[in-house]
Amino acid sequence: NITDQGGGKIACLSTESHVILNRRSKIDKKMLTALDHRNLQVVYQPQMDIATGETTVYEALVRWQDEELGYIMPDELIPIAEENGHIHAIGAFVIEEAAKMAVTLSNKKHDAIISVNTSVREFNNSQMHEKLTNILEKTKCPSNKIQLEITEKFALQAEQEHSIVLQMKKLQEDGIQFTLDDFGTGYASFRYMQSLPISKVKIDKVFIQSLLTMPKNKKLVEGMILFSKTMGFYVVAEGVESEEQFELLKEMGVDAVQGYYIGAPVTAEEIFQNL
Ligand code: C2E
Ligand code: MG
Ligand code: MG
Ligand code: MG
Repeated sequence: NITDQGGGKIACLSTESHVILNRRSKIDKKMLTALDHRNLQVVYQPQMDIATGETTVYEALVRWQDEELGYIMPDELIPIAEENGHIHAIGAFVIEEAAKMAVTLSNKKHDAIISVNTSVREFNNSQMHEKLTNILEKTKCPSNKIQLEITEKFALQAEQEHSIVLQMKKLQEDGIQFTLDDFGTGYASFRYMQSLPISKVKIDKVFIQSLLTMPKNKKLVEGMILFSKTMGFYVVAEGVESEEQFELLKEMGVDAVQGYYIGAPVTAEEIFQNL
């Protein structure tokens, strides 16, 4: 396959990259309709607080199932949405679902915080604070029932754009906590961990998954926990898949665990059934 890229440049694409490009462009084109028709779904994964043994947090994770394209997981969906700008609408959809979920759980006498992943683009033009405030008002969800997860890529950007930090601080004043997700995988800077209004860190699953097999990794996780606790953060370990990992992490002093061992992401209905 030959594509003319203009400027006299000719690129050869393998059949495989053609398939990927084709899928990408279909995802791009179908996204708005999927949003309009509410074909997107949110699943929830429990997070267990070690001290109480209770599920105190559920993480909201977006899903999209399309007749033709099958499951489109967030790692595929989100980067495309960030590019075409639909990330704002997707974010609003997920936050609204999360807020409704928090209210329903509370009505069922099960208080929990719903944790929502955010992209830094959603904070452009001071949009996030307004968006969240409107949704919380509309759904009658108390602001302390929603928390936001940011990545290290986000934190790096926030350091450069003051308006992002201002919004984060305003949200924090409203009672919304921030979690630094995928801790340890990105451009970890100790500086922003001090300057941004973050109260929790989530150690990335790559470190948890090699905890028992790589002695050096165990040392690394010990160091991450010690550092985070010294800084006053609530420490979460994600990707916990076995009892051995769970017991070790408990011993190492993490505050909460999340992963298939505790529970996989499931629909709201499934959560209600098992309350
Ligand atoms: P994340 O926030 O770090 O979420 C954890 C991912 O690991 C989820 O994948 C979850 O299903 C998976 N996971 C949970 N427990 C285990 C385990 O024990 N073992 C293993 N191997 N995996 C586990 P998912 O749902 O595919 O999401 C991938 C990423 O996409 C998320 O990583 C998050 O950064 C992003 N994402 C998901 N939903 C949204 C959203 O609504 N908005 C934005 N901006 N990003 C989202
Ligand atoms: Mg997350
Ligand atoms: Mg993570
Ligand atoms: Mg991740």
